[in-house]
Amino acid sequence: MDNLIDGKAVAASVRAEVAERTKKLFDETGIRAGLAVIIVGEDPASEVYVRNKHTACHEAGMHSLEVVMPAETTQAELEAKVDEVSADPAIHGLIVQMPLPSHLDTEAAIERIPFAKDADGLTSGAMGRLMTLQPGPLPCTPAGVIELLKAYDVDMKGAHAVIVGRSEIVGKPQAHLLLKEDCTVTICHSRTKDLEGICQQADILVAAVGRPKMLGAQHVKDGAVVIDVGINRLPEGLCGDVDFDAVQPKARLITPVPGGVGPMTIAMLLKNTVLAAEASAGR
Ligand code: NDP
Repeated sequence: MDNLIDGKAVAASVRAEVAERTKKLFDETGIRAGLAVIIVGEDPASEVYVRNKHTACHEAGMHSLEVVMPAETTQAELEAKVDEVSADPAIHGLIVQMPLPSHLDTEAAIERIPFAKDADGLTSGAMGRLMTLQPGPLPCTPAGVIELLKAYDVDMKGAHAVIVGRSEIVGKPQAHLLLKEDCTVTICHSRTKDLEGICQQADILVAAVGRPKMLGAQHVKDGAVVIDVGINRLPEGLCGDVDFDAVQPKARLITPVPGGVGPMTIAMLLKNTVLAAEASAGR
């Protein structure tokens, strides 16, 4: 069935646009957009993400800085490093790679990032600007979902969007971004009554739960657009929060896992960085 949303293709076109803007900014102002990643300790999954970010930066013509700190780094040392990197004029976007070792306070570390350099769009400054419709960096994964919907000409005006999940990283900002596109938005979570009944009303169903294949055919209205943010590692490989085989025949459009929302996150990180670099040049 040809109802797949090809996240790799959409991410490639976002990255191509970012590369073009990066080049134009450099040619016209001498400013090379720069992204820094602060990593504390060793986490095999994070190492893969960080490598991918580094490669993506280079492909986009951006300056990329990796700051690796030992696992025993203290909160004060981490925050001092965030302050130092934030003050570097060559850096326009900064992220603190999660997960941090458990003795560190992730929220406090992220809050040290000035919102103008918050490439992940996760600081309260960036979130506040999203809620009050002011320009600022957008949270990467939910913003990537909006790019996918736009790339496939999904009519969001007045559509009922149901989001399963209310995390600070995905569910909540996703609701605001869909609201901004004039969707009627319902947010579901672990205490929601009649999850199935609410999901069945969705024109656009966004799954961001972290439970493998939790949403099945019984949750999906015929012709719905299904966006699966979930990334779950099973012995047989990666899967989403949607039971893809059961849902695909009912959906008008559906994202696969992998290859759907996942590739958009890094693309949007680069986009936030080049937009911040442009803003630093008064554009
Ligand atoms: P969280 O664990 O922070 O949030 C999960 C949400 O799902 C919570 O709001 C929780 O409700 C809700 N939930 C849990 N169980 C149920 C249930 N039985 N019924 C209804 N709601 C339920 O996860 P994240 O938002 O950080 O991530 C969600 C998924 O997205 C994960 O698989 C993660 O790996 C993936 N992800 C993918 C990214 C990408 O780049 N594609 C980026 C970020 C995340 P409550 O609040 O009541 O506990």
